[in-house]
Parts: sequence; structure tokens; C-alpha cells
Amino acid sequence: MRTKLGLLYGGKSAEHKVSMQTAMAVIKALDLEKFDIHPIYITTEGQWVRGPQLTGPVDNIKALEFNSEEAQSPTALAPKVFNGNDHDSQALDVIFPLLHGPNGEDGTVQGLLELLNLPYVGNGVLASAAGMDKVFMKNIFAQADLAQVAYVSFIRSEWEKEREASYLKVEGQLGYPCFVKPANLGSSVGISKCSNREELENAFIDAFQFDRKIIIEEGVVAREIEVGILGNDEPECSVAGEIIPKTEFYDYKAKYEDGDTALVIPADISEEVYDEMKEMAIRAYKALDCSGLVRADFFLTKEGKLLINEVNTMPGFTPFSMFPLLWKHTGVEYPELIKRLVDLGTERHKEKQ
Ligand code: ATP
Ligand code: MG
Ligand code: MG
Ligand code: MG
Repeated sequence: MRTKLGLLYGGKSAEHKVSMQTAMAVIKALDLEKFDIHPIYITTEGQWVRGPQLTGPVDNIKALEFNSEEAQSPTALAPKVFNGNDHDSQALDVIFPLLHGPNGEDGTVQGLLELLNLPYVGNGVLASAAGMDKVFMKNIFAQADLAQVAYVSFIRSEWEKEREASYLKVEGQLGYPCFVKPANLGSSVGISKCSNREELENAFIDAFQFDRKIIIEEGVVAREIEVGILGNDEPECSVAGEIIPKTEFYDYKAKYEDGDTALVIPADISEEVYDEMKEMAIRAYKALDCSGLVRADFFLTKEGKLLINEVNTMPGFTPFSMFPLLWKHTGVEYPELIKRLVDLGTERHKEKQ
């Protein structure tokens, strides 16, 4: 019997477009002998529409944006969306939330799926929420004794009350260069590298447009190395990959527009560094109680010190993204990777019952 797989994509976050690209790629890779594909589109306003069952790949993103006039609020539509609607009345077996950023990668959709008692791919509520908030994530890493850069954080109202004191705190505790980031986002959206006060002030304004909370980190000069983790209670680690951006840092444009960034897989690092990275990545995975997958991002300094930067609980997932490429080089091709993730989601659901 074929698995009825609900693909949830689009979404309200700044990473809507990235999610659409991922959905196209996953649809193309899914084996139609094993899966019936049921697309569920989330508009940029956060409304949901369930499209008809797909019988083959789609060739342009527009085709995945089902009639927005039929869109409804997720709470009104969710039971119908998942348990059958006008297009077809079949209940779905498992949901693959191909969503990045807030309202998708942050535990909210995962919570809804928990309430509906539906198996889903990827991290659960807690890991998703903790992984999305860079401040909480780093606090948990600190508790797990994972080496990382120094950081401070502010909420918007604190900064509005005491702007000068906020900047002085950053300058006193971190100095320049530093990185200013919205606490809850990805794809480098809203991130700036700052080398002086003027840049810092502008960076705060920018980052606060995306979030009511921001994090500022000490800037390091380092290589950027990543690994993929796959599994539930016994997570496995992929080979390592290195990102070599041609720009000042690995910003949104470098990620999705230029294609100029080199991904080197496997990364040219010693066995000792790889072993340490693997141990740290799995420690981070367990500290956040992750399941399914994450991509763990590290800095490797000139002195050979490894610092964990972040984990991404729903990393970029097109066949050209780091996470699938890392697994390809580890011996797991894209269609197999999707199948493993679906199985891991189903297994976790059974274990909870
Ligand atoms: P994604 O989820 O797409 O990986 P993100 O939005 O969560 O990205 P980060 O990975 O934290 O953002 O940062 C984006 C990029 O900015 C990094 O890949 C790196 O190039 C640069 N960067 C971030 N923080 C630092 C830092 N503290 N020191 C030096 N470079 C940094
Ligand atoms: Mg991230
Ligand atoms: Mg991300
Ligand atoms: Mg990153």
C-alpha cells in the first residue's frame, strides 16, 4: 500500500520562497510507487489550502500555489486538510513539513500535528522551538558544555528604552566585529556584520524588523564546516562539508541567488577535527532532544578550535543544499534520504503511543 504523504510548504516566514523550491525538489524525487503526494500550501498570510493529489513532478513554483481564494485559517482547515476534503476524502498517513523559519520550523506546526495525532517528519515541538530561537539554543549549548562564541541579546522594548546602554553593552562585552541577528530566523535573513557603531545601530534597526528579540555575537574569523545528523535515539553523523562564500559572509544572496559559494564535500579537515565535530554535533542533538534530522554548523578557527554556531532543525533541503549533499557523500541518495526521514517520523510517532 502506498503511503499518503502530506507535503506542507510555503508558509508565513521570510523563508517562504526557499520552502517552495524545496517542495518542487521533493515532489520530483518521491517514488510514486511508494507515495501518494498530497500538497498543502501555506500562503504568505499563513492561510492553508489543500491541493489535489499530485501524480507527477511540477515544473514551476506557481503551479504549487493553489487557489488562494480557497485558503482558510489553519485551525479551521487542519482537520479537513488532513482527514480529507472536497478534492479527495482520504486521510493522510504522514506529514512532511517542508517549512523553514517561524510558524514552521519552530514547533508551532509540530504542535498542531501532535494535537491531530498525525505522524510527521523531523523534529518535535521542543527541539523545533529551542532550535529556532538562537538565544535559547545557545543557552542550552552552554549547559551542555559546548564551545561557542560569546553572545548577548535584547528584546525590542529594552533597546527602545535604552539604546545607548544597549550599544555600550555590545561594545563592552563583544567588541567589533560582531554579528547582529534576529533571534528566530534562518537563511541569514536580517543578519549584519558590524565593524563600528554606525553599522551596529543600523543592524539593530534591521534585525528588529524581523523579530522582537535579537542576538549579537562576537565575530570570528574561521572556516565554516557543517555535518548532517540523521536518526532518533541513535543519531548518525554524515561526512563534513565546508562552505566557502565569495562574499563577506554567507548571506541570503550567497545562499540562494549567486550560486557562487563553493560547497566542499568532504571538507578538508583532519580525522581528529572530524571526530570532535561529530561528538559535539551529537551532544548538541541530544541536548536539544532532537529527532529526525538536523544540520549542525561549526566554526573552525585558525588555532584549530571548534565552536558550534547553530543547529538547523529543518535545514535547506533541495538536492543542491548542504544537508542532502552531505548524505549523498555518506552514501544516502536523495530519494532514500526522504524515505528514511518518513520512516523516522513514523517510528517516533509509534514510540509515543
Ligand atoms: P541558516 O539557518 O541558513 O544556516 P542563519 O540565518 O541561521 O542561517 P547563521 O548561520 O547564524 O544564520 O549565520 C549566517 C552566516 O553568517 C554564517 O554562515 C556565517 O557566514 C556568518 N556568521 C554568523 N555568525 C557569525 C559569527 N559569530 N562570526 C563569524 N561569522 C558569522
Ligand atoms: Mg540557522
Ligand atoms: Mg535555518
Ligand atoms: Mg547557519
